[in-house]
Amino acid sequence: MKNYRERIASAKRIVLKIGTTSLTYDNGNLNLNRIEKIVQVLSDLVNSGKEIVLVTSGAIGVGRSKLGYTTKPQTIQEKQACASVGQVILMNIYSRLFGEYGYCVGQILLTKDVIENQRRKDNVSNTFETLFERKIIPIVNENDSVSIEEIENIPRFGDNDNLAAVVAVITQADLLIILSDIDGLYDKNPKEFLDAHKISCVEEITQEIEHFAQGSGSDFGTGGMQTKIMAAKVATSNGCDLILANSSKPQIIFDILDSKDVGTLFVARRDNAR
Ligand code: ADP
Repeated sequence: MKNYRERIASAKRIVLKIGTTSLTYDNGNLNLNRIEKIVQVLSDLVNSGKEIVLVTSGAIGVGRSKLGYTTKPQTIQEKQACASVGQVILMNIYSRLFGEYGYCVGQILLTKDVIENQRRKDNVSNTFETLFERKIIPIVNENDSVSIEEIENIPRFGDNDNLAAVVAVITQADLLIILSDIDGLYDKNPKEFLDAHKISCVEEITQEIEHFAQGSGSDFGTGGMQTKIMAAKVATSNGCDLILANSSKPQIIFDILDSKDVGTLFVARRDNAR
């Protein structure tokens, strides 16, 4: 099999998505230690000449804590209010941490349908390009006041896998990294089956691969593997490699960019691959 990992080392533009389970503790509070490490790794990548976009979840959880909810908010409006408060706090934390390494952040709140309207898509793309030129780190989240589909469909917090894929397409990224609470895609849910095997490389997203992802996600997370497979379809069909890896040690991003065999690589379609 061709070593698709080799080209990962030369990825210049990288989108990193971190899931709720990776950013928060089981009680819903932010894992600041994890966030600090992620910021350090990303700052170092920008130092080395890479262009980075961070797609971050966590706003509803943070807002929920701030507003003193002891149980999860029930209505969509309450969740939107939590997201609105939490987003400010989250951005404040990122801004402060990236600032320690000399970097400025820019907030971009998007809805996934932005890709369906060429003028809007161009506007967003122009914003990203200008931020890249100025070495400002774009931080993206779903615009929860405008888009309720994620909040509505999902019992706990919003999910950003598909949004991250849309961002990778708009920015024409070389690589999308999704960090989750799991080492990669397995042939069945490893949280339920001890004999599950990790898949190192997916050249084509077949029905069999989709079947592997049928298991549900974790309690605080949302989409499980299914939304990650959907994201992989969008990214790879648009020429962007996707690697799913474990967020527990954010330094894994360096291993990924050293072409090491970590996580699961979903190979970009070669006719489209840059
Ligand atoms: P995140 O918040 O990082 O997006 P999720 O909880 O939504 O994470 O998704 C990751 C979870 O998906 C894993 O913890 C695991 O329980 C579940 N899962 C279901 N099927 C699979 C599979 N085939 N391979 C790996 N994980 C799976």
